[in-house]
Amino acid sequence: MPTTTFTPPTRILMGPGPSGAHPRVLTAMTRPLLGHLDPDFLRVMDGCRAMLREVLQTENEVTLATPGTGTSGMEAAVMNLVEPGDRVVVGICGYFGERIAQMAERAGGEVTRVQSPWGQPVDAAVVEAAVKAAGNVKLLAIVHAETSTGAETPVEPFARIARENGALLLVDCVTSLGGMPVRADAWGADAVYSGTQKCLSAPPGVAPITVSARAWDAVRRRETPCNTWYLDLQLLEAYWDERRTYHHTAPISMVYALHEALSLVLEEGLETRWARHERNGRALQAGLEAMGLTLHAQAGYRLPVLTTVRIPVGVEDTAVRGALLHRYGIEIGGGLGELKGRVWRIGLMGESSTPGNVLLLLNALGKLLR
Ligand code: PLP
Repeated sequence: MPTTTFTPPTRILMGPGPSGAHPRVLTAMTRPLLGHLDPDFLRVMDGCRAMLREVLQTENEVTLATPGTGTSGMEAAVMNLVEPGDRVVVGICGYFGERIAQMAERAGGEVTRVQSPWGQPVDAAVVEAAVKAAGNVKLLAIVHAETSTGAETPVEPFARIARENGALLLVDCVTSLGGMPVRADAWGADAVYSGTQKCLSAPPGVAPITVSARAWDAVRRRETPCNTWYLDLQLLEAYWDERRTYHHTAPISMVYALHEALSLVLEEGLETRWARHERNGRALQAGLEAMGLTLHAQAGYRLPVLTTVRIPVGVEDTAVRGALLHRYGIEIGGGLGELKGRVWRIGLMGESSTPGNVLLLLNALGKLLR
């Protein structure tokens, strides 16, 4: 059978991820491989660690990138922090909060789900009541930017609840990191993880994660070994810190990509980058509303990086998305879970967050809906 080289078509990635990768990131991935214990590669890892601390706004010693997509960061955080019988409260307002709850159950945790309507933030008052009712909660978890609904859950109230009740706070920042303020230490978050393919604008493949001293203590004091070997943070840390103990063969090219992506974030500057995402996101939302469309997420909590817009009555979801893709080369996302068929999800993340993309999408969608 003849083999051919695959050449992907040109696409503008404006869905819920991946976003478009910066050419410098893609170039970094074409550089020659080094061994995973080569001193020069270890320097790249150290560089990632230092830059991750800056981007995550933390001084946590344990800051690294797990091999795998954002879900690996989630699984590392949950599996390492939850032991059988631990009480866990998860604030859920969309698809990814539910994923955390399922993982915590698989880790043997006694999980309380606190549900909020999809499109609203997690309700801190209800979570606080649930934490108090459960008593002796080890872990409180929320998703900062719920990609399935386009809603932000402000983290600060949950940090207070965790602190006052002796619980650790886990925050999913897969969609927010690099596009919106993420301040792990100032929040008082104990575990924060993310992914590379959203606002960091690298391909999917590794997951930044940081763990506070308090949470690390809990990891080290576990009575039972962590339920995952591959994502055991103590084993991973032994490779990422000066011990350099072999654990897995690092995904070398992805670590190059992460290094370049983080350099780009810091060259742009965090504040400037957040402001760019804010400006473009609000422009898109204003444009969609000006077209007579209805935004799904609650006003005041709409993510600048991911907008959910309701599909107008009588309009066929897949026909519009198909036309956007094939006529205009633009990818947007459909709804997930209970919002399937009801909303479109439009991402403006990382390299994809440009005024040109906002205008392109509004123009194309306007023509298709006419
Ligand atoms: N958490 C959130 C909020 C996400 O949006 C996603 C992916 O879209 C994930 C976790 C899982 O990340 P991945 O698909 O990279 O494994």
